[in-house]
Amino acid sequence: MNTIIVDPKHEPPGLKGEGFFATKLSDVVGLARKNSLWPLPFATSCCGIEFMATMASTYDLARFGSERMSFSPRQADMLMVMGTISKKLAPVLRQVYEQMAEPKWVLCMGACASSGGIFDTYSVLQGIDRIIPVDVYIPGCPPRPEQVLDGILKIQELVQNESFRRRDTPEYKALLESYGI
Ligand code: SF4
Repeated sequence: MNTIIVDPKHEPPGLKGEGFFATKLSDVVGLARKNSLWPLPFATSCCGIEFMATMASTYDLARFGSERMSFSPRQADMLMVMGTISKKLAPVLRQVYEQMAEPKWVLCMGACASSGGIFDTYSVLQGIDRIIPVDVYIPGCPPRPEQVLDGILKIQELVQNESFRRRDTPEYKALLESYGI
């Protein structure tokens, strides 16, 4: 049997008594998923350097349970896209997204990944949401590590509160279909 130790500040709503705590299974799963996100860093340029600072000791992403980078899409559930995405690279990013198992979340970091940034040219994708759905955007060029942490906290909020069935809903299927996935 696994034991989850929860800071009382973050415990889900439930019934508490002497020696027991009862809550919904979905809340426990949400809590576990939230605190064990495995990021796949898809870093192509300078925003990736800022992400490295977020991983290092000063900002220490490990405090949020996300220190285990995954360079295999099949073992990751948070895709972090950081940097300029050229149109040539777009199919690769999409393939990586498709290879990730559900449930998965996408964090889009910086102006380039969000909108093409200063590179309004024929060769640069003007935002990754043209090819894959995005859950959270982090503005800036580059965003500071504090902003990256804030984006991850927002993803954690989504993860904790997401219903088990969201991925089976017609709305979610329609969203993927709108991307041809
Ligand atoms: S948003 Fe700015 S810092 Fe980030 S990849 Fe683009 S140019 Fe570099």
